[in-house]
Amino acid sequence: MATPKIIMPALSGGVRIAIVGVGISGAYLGARLSHLGVRAIGLEAQGEDNYRSPCAWATSIDGIRGYLRTVDVDIEEYVLREADGVYVDLGGTLHRVPTRRLATFDKPAVILRMAREFEVRRQARVRGASSIDSDVIVDATGVHRAVIGPAERGTDLVLPAYQLTVRYREPWLDEFYVRPFPRYSGYLWQFPLGGGRFFVGAGDLNHDHLRRLSEFLGEHPPDEVISRDGRPIRISPPGILRPMWRLEGERTIVAVGEAAGAVLPVLGEGILPSLESSEALAGHLASGGFSAESYERELIGRFSVFRAAYRFVRRKQEGTCRAADPRCLLDAARLAAFFSSERGRTLTGVAPGPQHISLALRPFRGRPQRRLYR
Ligand SMILES: Cc1cc2nc3c(=O)[nH]c(=O)nc-3n(C[C@H](O)[C@H](O)[C@H](O)COP(=O)(O)OP(=O)(O)OC[C@H]3O[C@@H](n4cnc5c(N)ncnc54)[C@H](O)[C@@H]3O)c2cc1C
Repeated sequence: MATPKIIMPALSGGVRIAIVGVGISGAYLGARLSHLGVRAIGLEAQGEDNYRSPCAWATSIDGIRGYLRTVDVDIEEYVLREADGVYVDLGGTLHRVPTRRLATFDKPAVILRMAREFEVRRQARVRGASSIDSDVIVDATGVHRAVIGPAERGTDLVLPAYQLTVRYREPWLDEFYVRPFPRYSGYLWQFPLGGGRFFVGAGDLNHDHLRRLSEFLGEHPPDEVISRDGRPIRISPPGILRPMWRLEGERTIVAVGEAAGAVLPVLGEGILPSLESSEALAGHLASGGFSAESYERELIGRFSVFRAAYRFVRRKQEGTCRAADPRCLLDAARLAAFFSSERGRTLTGVAPGPQHISLALRPFRGRPQRRLYR
């Protein structure tokens, strides 16, 4: 059955917008709408004090700068630690892969700063849409999808993840470090935050992340464990995850950020994709009329390479990504082109391997041999 086309009345005519969840996507959306002259109200479960954003806070400074500038936030003020390479551990040997301005930044501070640009009600944990009196309700609650509700069966995939904040007096490697797991099921990371502090975490579709994490901590015992956080990461992208919007009475509920699947499978990178989805939604909401269907179409178009990444990861997992499989080769090639392009931003050094349909890490300074990640 075809979905009905929903055209909202002109927003200047008093359509009210509620944004549930004021994390990176909700905070950016609210701030961006405010700068575009559209009023929205944010409803956030957490308070300002000790606001937590369970995430490794890593992104490309070049990628995020432009978004934040539109809401008068200068990312350079929030950078914790920056690097021009990431150390990739493929079975004990370290390969330094070039990156352009990869950095950890104070993500909670950026979120709270953006949230100052519009009205946010805090300690407001929302359970469903019935309590919200608005015409458009944006679900920006990340993996929870607290308002739009669970995805249709078979369309959602989440990867369990766990992370510690630790301190080393003498770090064994004061750099960005990742240890990929076989068949692209996930990876372990150690990201520096400055001052001897690091995020050390792991996510794994095979649910083996806790064992791998404790193995790593055994190899490199920290001097202090400051905090622990665990939450799954959604990796089913727009076009696979459904629904992206739904109607409840007269109201339209629409998803953004991780609630809409804006996370790059393979890396679990969701900060820039969240901003990209919020930017798209802000444009639609500020356009004078709002069609949830055309917003969904735009996301499906913008995130097509995420679907290639998703299919690639799934086939690697199943062991069906063989050299003769043209679909897998095509998806790997698209993914490699994305990583090498301006849009890839975080990891620039990846290309398809000739035999195995794997990704290859480009060496840091012209070393002749490429390293395949199988
Ligand atoms: C361990 C881990 C490490 C990661 N590391 C990185 C990384 O280094 N780089 C990267 O790019 N991505 C990373 N990601 C992914 C990234 O964190 C997310 O994709 C991104 O934060 C999604 O943003 P969001 O605003 O959509 O959702 P969230 O960041 O989850 O924000 C949701 C907001 O909604 C609020 N909320 C939830 N439920 C309710 C409710 N019922 N009512 C009201 N408010 C509610 C929450 O308090 C929160 O403020 C990581 C994820 C995890 C789990």
